[in-house]
Amino acid sequence: MRRKLVAGNWKMHGLRAQLGEVEAIAAAAAANRQVDVALCVPFTLIAAAVAVAGDMPIGAQDVHEADQGAHTGNISAAMLREAGATLTIVGHSERRADQHETSHDAWAKAAAAHRRGLRVILCCGETEAEHNAGRAERIVQSQIEKSLPDGASPDWLTLAYEPRWAIGTGRTPSLDQIEAIHAIARAKLRMMVGDAADGIRILYGGSVTAANAEAILAVDNVDGALVGGASLTADKFVPIVEAAA
Ligand code: PGA
Repeated sequence: MRRKLVAGNWKMHGLRAQLGEVEAIAAAAAANRQVDVALCVPFTLIAAAVAVAGDMPIGAQDVHEADQGAHTGNISAAMLREAGATLTIVGHSERRADQHETSHDAWAKAAAAHRRGLRVILCCGETEAEHNAGRAERIVQSQIEKSLPDGASPDWLTLAYEPRWAIGTGRTPSLDQIEAIHAIARAKLRMMVGDAADGIRILYGGSVTAANAEAILAVDNVDGALVGGASLTADKFVPIVEAAA
């Protein structure tokens, strides 16, 4: 049985004034031990969030593929570890769109994160045009094929399926569509890593809210949620954690 994971992605939101939300979310995580909860916050908030998060893992939203070097404005896995992060998101569609990151970049970043002991949430998902063209399944398979790091195992790797057109839009695929893509992602993982695929969690992300979480989390092969907007405050996020419990 895969334990459910509900991970928040604060994106470019969060100043110290919001640490009370981290604290409240951590309290809910402690009260719902049947489900794993994590928060991925801006780099600048990692250390302060760790200080108030108890044993709830705090993560980053990106990492550089190199261990160190002349990469102005970037951040290494060792730096994230030192700040107290224990995981990071890689390959998020906003980085694919805004920073032109590719699946190969996500592969290299995931490997770098793992080398330094960070757990990884690896994102995949099709655009709206790809969705409308009926190409979602092929795109997701190809992204997994190109970005899944060597030696991927449930101990440190989680996959997140996030259709780009569902992120921040209030629109979600139908439950049948979510089920179909998650089944395909699971099959692809099985082809690539064998039995280990059965333990790797596959999260759904894209406009998850308290209102739809229970139904989405009940879909086959949905092992949790990656939550953006609704993770920013405890009053919106905690009901999603409870729905997973
Ligand atoms: P959303 O974002 O929940 O605001 O749609 C999800 C994500 O980008 O991880």
